[in-house]
This record gives sequence, structure tokens and C-alpha cells, in this order.
Amino acid sequence: MIKTDLIIIGAGPGGYHTAYHATKEGLTVAIFEDREVGGTCLNSGCIPTKTYCHFAEVVDSSRECAEFGLDNLKFDINFSKIHNRKNEVVSQLRSGIDMLMQAPGITFVKGKASFKDTQTIICNNEEYQAKHIIIATGSHAKMPPIEGINDPSVVTSTELLDIDHVPTKLCIVGAGVIGMEFAAAFSTFGSEVTVIEFLKECLPPIDSDIAKRLRKQLEKKGVKFYLQAGVKRIENGNVTFERKGKEETILADTVLIATGRAANIEGLGLEAAGIEVDRKGIVVDEHFCTNVKNIYAIGDVNGKQMLAHAAEFQGYHVLNQILGHSDHINFQIMPSAVFTNPEIAGVGLTEDQCKEQGLNYKCFKSLYRANGKAVSMNAVDGLAKLITKEVDGKSYVIGCHVLGAHAADLVQEMTTVMNDPQLSISDFNNVIHIHPTLSEILHEAGLIATSNSASF
Ligand code: FAD
Repeated sequence: MIKTDLIIIGAGPGGYHTAYHATKEGLTVAIFEDREVGGTCLNSGCIPTKTYCHFAEVVDSSRECAEFGLDNLKFDINFSKIHNRKNEVVSQLRSGIDMLMQAPGITFVKGKASFKDTQTIICNNEEYQAKHIIIATGSHAKMPPIEGINDPSVVTSTELLDIDHVPTKLCIVGAGVIGMEFAAAFSTFGSEVTVIEFLKECLPPIDSDIAKRLRKQLEKKGVKFYLQAGVKRIENGNVTFERKGKEETILADTVLIATGRAANIEGLGLEAAGIEVDRKGIVVDEHFCTNVKNIYAIGDVNGKQMLAHAAEFQGYHVLNQILGHSDHINFQIMPSAVFTNPEIAGVGLTEDQCKEQGLNYKCFKSLYRANGKAVSMNAVDGLAKLITKEVDGKSYVIGCHVLGAHAADLVQEMTTVMNDPQLSISDFNNVIHIHPTLSEILHEAGLIATSNSASF
């Protein structure tokens, strides 16, 4: 029996960050991983997709540059090299985490862990015990019950990342974040991309106005969308879907299923510890504690906010509770991004949510085309939206949504503003922004919000 202060199951961004911080606080940790360290995020999620998104953006801007005087620019896309580069990026970062897992105080165990009881874990026939246990086992692609889902043309996002050639005809089922990032990147690399989505707009619950603008831009690049369409069956790459009461069929060599993810709870032996689950995953309270007092569940496995940074901060919050420290992390203010070209990012309430909640809000827009840096970058197709609420005569940001170059970096600034409940838009307007930068787009939106000019 090996005893440590803390056990963590899963070495994705939730698990490995928490393990590392815990040892910095003097705790001993046993961490279990049955595949590669880094989890979905590093091996088949954030990092490999962002490597593709980066190259797609480079290709898009190189094509634009040809219009603006970079003559005789000629390039062929050698996708298998881009694929190799993606693998190199992943393995470079993975070796960094492998090293972290060797830090003093960490016992790293390769293998599938499961509960024996509320304080004991079994892995490779060995027993491990700790007072506190964090489950950080992540999620996997959820396959919908579609006839022919096992067709050879069907792939998950993980499998698509393993393919070292560009699919000729790529059909993407599901226009969520994962579907849209692949649609944008592979259409640039040369695939003929079709997206089939059940809902009436892509990317819910992202601001629908912004989602629609992105869709229009991808349509201009040649991506075909079928919205309010439900896939009925897949056979030899023929994808049949129903739209407006009629059946239509398109042919694809590769069909990406991107219809959501499900918690990794199978084989964990949760019943041995009496841990409650629901259809989203492990049930937790607002402090990520399960129904068993000493056991926590962080990241994708609790199904709350399926983002790498959410997993990391949930782990940090749990660690603070274990240590008896207080923190002020506001999990309501969770920024997120879609790394298409152009990029989308947002934080806080959208206009749709304000309407649903009957809130008295205002929305102010500032356009990329009015910003000097954006024009010089030829990144004029974009906008920033500030959603504000008035309290005692002062305006506060309750949402910020951006479509355009470096949207994620812009939204990060507003995330900081929103984290300080005392900070009004007038205070934000007093902060000097460097010229010329894209950050001036948000500053401009702030000035509009306080200028008493009509809201858009
Ligand atoms: P994971 O990263 O899934 O890690 C869990 C680990 O636990 C895995 O390594 C697994 O092998 C291990 N494990 C499971 N069961 C056991 C067991 N019984 N014993 C031992 N080990 C076990 N998020 C972002 O914030 N930004 C992005 O740009 C982004 N892009 C994405 C793109 C794609 C294609 C996908 C699929 C996801 C993306 N995500 C992104 C989501 C992000 O990857 C996840 O939110 C994040 O990885 C969740 O972290 P986690 O630690 O909860 O779980």
C-alpha cells in the first residue's frame, strides 16, 4: 500500500497542473495516467488543432499578400509536413509535462486507476491511499445513434488529427467549436467542406450574431452549410440528412462526427466509492466536490465547462480547499474562444442570454475596419460587442464578444475588467491603450458606451 496526501486520476490539464501546484505547497501526490500525459488538450485537442489553425491562417494571409504586392509568391501545401510539425509540437510539450511529473513529491503511475473504496485506488494490482482524491479523467467523443455510424468514412476529431493527408470531401456533422475549427482549417488546406448542423445557427451558445457572421465568412471561402438538418444515415461515405421535410445525400471520403463529448467514467469503479453521476458526468457542487466529502471531480469529467483552462482553474480551486486557503476565482466569468480564421472569443452574457433573462442591457459595437492596426493588417472583417448594464448611474461590462483577428487576446483584457466588480466602463476608458493595436477596438467600444451616443 502506497500512501500520499493526494491522489489524482488523469494527467490532462486538470490533473497535471493540480499535481504540480500541490507539490509546490508541500503535499505528496500520486497521479495516474493510462495514456499519454497532457490528456485530450495536448494530445488530441487544443494543441494539435491550434497547430493546424495556425498554418491555415498563415496560408490564408499568404494568399492575401499576393493581392498586396508580394509578387511571384508560389507555394504548395505539403500537408504531411504540417502533420509532422503538429506531432513535433505535441511531443515537445509532452516531454515538458513528463519532466514535471518527475518533480519531487510526485509519484507518477502509468496505468488505469479505479476506486476500491472512498480512500483507496487500485492500479496495476497495487493499492494507493490518500485522504483526498481528485478525479480528472476527462472526456471522449460521443457518437450519436445514427444508422451507419461505423461506416469506414466516419472519424472522430482524434482520428482526423491522425490522418496525414487532406480529405478531398470532408463532411462535418455538428457545427460546434470542434466542427467549426476543422471546417475553417481544412477548407484552407483544400478540402471541399460541408457542415451539417441540427440547430438553426452554428456555434451555440456563442452570440448568434457573431456566429452568423463567422458562418457567412466561411461560406465565402467555400464551406457549405446545411442548418436545421438531421443526419439519418451514413453508407460508404454517402451522408443522408433530412432538411425541411426532405431527404438529401452528399458524398464524402471523410465524415467527422463532432456532436459533443461524454465523460470518461467507465471502468473507474465509481460505485465502489458511492460517487453519484448524471447524464453529464460526475455530479459536483459549486466547489467541484462530489457527494463523497473527500472526493472531487474537475474538468471535462464533471461536464460543467469543457475547456482546458476551466479544468486547470477548477483543480486550483480544489487544491485551495484542501489546503484551507481561500481564493476568489469567479467561475461565472469563463472566457472561451474558437480558433477559426477569423477568430471568435467571448466572455460573460450574450445578447441572446440577456434577452432570455429579461435583463435591461445595452449593446455597443466597435468595428475592426475603423481601427488603424486592423486596416494595416487587412483584418477589417470583424467587430467587438460590449454588453453593459447600468447600476447606480454607472455602466459595467456583463459580456464581451469579438469576431476578428486576435479575438481571444482582446477578450482576455475584458475578462480582467469583469473580474473586478468595482471597475466600471468609465474606469476602463481611463486605461491608456497602445496605438496602433487591436486592443483599441475595445477601448473604442468603451468610449461609445459612455458617450451617450446611440447604441447600435
Ligand atoms: P483530459 O485532457 O481529457 O485528460 C484526462 C486524462 O485522464 C486523459 O489523459 C486520460 O487518458 C486519463 N484517464 C482517464 N481515465 C483514466 C483512468 N481510469 N486512469 C488513469 N488515467 C485516466 N479546450 C480549450 O480550452 N481550448 C481549445 O482550444 C480546445 N480545443 C479542443 C479541440 C478538440 C479537438 C478537443 C477534442 C477538445 C478541445 N478543448 C479545448 C477541450 C480540452 O481539450 C478539454 O477541455 C481538456 O482537455 C479537459 O481537461 P481534463 O484534464 O479535464 O481532461
